[in-house]
Parts: sequence; C-alpha cells; structure tokens
Amino acid sequence: MLHQYTRVFGHPALVTILARFFGKLLGQDIDPLTNVMVTVGAYEALFCCFQALVDSGDEVIIIEPYFDCYEPMVKMAGGTPVFIPLRPKTPAPGKLMSSGDWQLDPAELASKFTRRTKAIVLNSPNNPLGKVFSKKEMELIADLCVKHDVLCFSDEVYEWLVYDGKKHIRIASLPGMWDRTITIGSAGKTFSATGWKVGWTFGPDHLLKHLRTVHQNCVYHCPTAAQEAVAQGFQREFERYGKPESYFVQLPQELQQKRDRLVQSLLAVGMKPIIPEGTYFLIADLSDFSKSGAVAPAPVLPTEG
Ligand code: PMP
Repeated sequence: MLHQYTRVFGHPALVTILARFFGKLLGQDIDPLTNVMVTVGAYEALFCCFQALVDSGDEVIIIEPYFDCYEPMVKMAGGTPVFIPLRPKTPAPGKLMSSGDWQLDPAELASKFTRRTKAIVLNSPNNPLGKVFSKKEMELIADLCVKHDVLCFSDEVYEWLVYDGKKHIRIASLPGMWDRTITIGSAGKTFSATGWKVGWTFGPDHLLKHLRTVHQNCVYHCPTAAQEAVAQGFQREFERYGKPESYFVQLPQELQQKRDRLVQSLLAVGMKPIIPEGTYFLIADLSDFSKSGAVAPAPVLPTEG
C-alpha cells in the first residue's frame, strides 16, 4: 500500500507519531487529525500559511536576516512585509562575535505592530545567522502577539541543530501562544535527508483548517513511502528520546565539531566568523580580509570518497 495514495492531510502513521512526539515536548494535547498537517517539505508548509491566512492589505513582520522565500510568499498572498533587523552588539574585546550578539531592539519591535499586522514570522534557530532566540526574546515576541492579536508562523526546521548547550524554545509552548501559532518542521532537516521533502505544520484546528483548504487545492497528496519512513524515524526517536544513542542528541554534537573546524579554517585565512549557535549556516565578516589585499584562496574542489 505504500505505493498508493495515503490520507490527504498526512499519512496516518506520521500524523500519529508527530502528534505524540510534539504533544509531549509542548505539554499540549495534539490531535493527529485536526492539529497536524503533512506538507511537501517545510516550504509548502510556509506557502500554505501565507496563502491561507494573509489577505491583501495585511502586514507580516519578518525579522532580518531571513530565509529568502518569506518575502515573496507574503507578497504573493497580497500582504506587505514589514522588516525588523537583528542588530549586532560589539563583542567583548578579544572575543569573536556570536549569533547571540545579534538582538532585537524591544522598542523597535513594538513599533512594527500596527492595526494591520496579521502575523510575525519567527525562525529560530535562524537561517542564515544561526541565532537561537532566548526564552526572554521569545517572551517579548509572544507578549506583543497576544497584545495585538497577531499570529506567529514559527519556522523551526533547525530545531535539533542547537550547539553549546543552548536550548531550543518552542514559542507555541508559551502562555497564550498555542492558539495563535503555526509551528513548521522539516524531516529533511530533522533527519539530514533534505531530498525527502517531507514537512509538517501543527497548531490549533481553527488555523489549520484554512491550511488544509490550500493544501487540498494545490498539492493534495504527499508521497506515501517517504511519510512512512519519516514516521518510523520518529517512532525510534520517541523511544530513545534524550538518551545518548538518540539521533537528536548525536546530530548537534557532530555538527558542532564541524562548525568549530570551519571557524578555525576561516580564522586561519583572515576572515571573522560569527559563531552560529545553531543551524547549518555560518556568516563571516570579510572586511579585514579584503582590506589586507589578501586574495581569496582557490576553492577546494570536492574529491571522490
Ligand atoms: N525554512 C528554512 C529556514 C529553511 O532553511 C528551509 C530549507 N533551506 C526550509 C524552511 C524548507 O525546508 P524543506 O526542505 O523541508 O522544504
């Protein structure tokens, strides 16, 4: 049967385990049939959020720097993107800048919420900076969402890629946020298999029902075999959650080592990396590098094996 169509809004095995898994993490009762929807990657999940919930004239707050598709997706839905930058603070002398040094100015953020604000897009851990928003920063955003009756599209595709003992906070778990948040995840990022293109959303039925309308009238079914494989992956992780043999424990440890190696390599050629607290990404300051007249090293071509 894995060669045939499955349930339109998510293969039963997958929505069931996603509801159990994230229900436990959030401390929230999640109904697999009404609170979860499977999508073709997180990308389709984002598209459904904007198409389903943003109307012409609505404003959507986007935190800079951001994953590039948010802006055109808001515009395609007829909305207006409103940008708020993360601003860098100078690190202590002798210390490298971290993605955590990039912060929202609370007054500036508050000034972006207007009568027309429909939603804010939150992406923690953030692509491309690698910033992992702290509980305090999340609470600031959550309080403004509640105060102004604004939705939150929380793109958490890098939720397991968090380094240096930092914790990923799920904004849907903060007071008043479950009812106004759509959380977005990706099996591609979760299991390091980006070609699988299995994503999901979870949130309250009164929001997800509109996403189901969009999904039903564009993509309709997602591939069954990939959904079954992801369901089995989550089932295994559910059983060994938090244990050393868990993939979700091992993956960030492995990538943190790779991050550190990349940082050393960039420093060695005169660049100033901004140490990412999470994600696959690293941004480096090249200003000194180009001032010194240094020539960029020749790219190293991948070799077989
Ligand atoms: N959100 C972010 C922040 C991403 O970086 C990506 C992929 N680069 C996606 C969503 C899309 O993920 P998927 O491959 O599951 O569609």
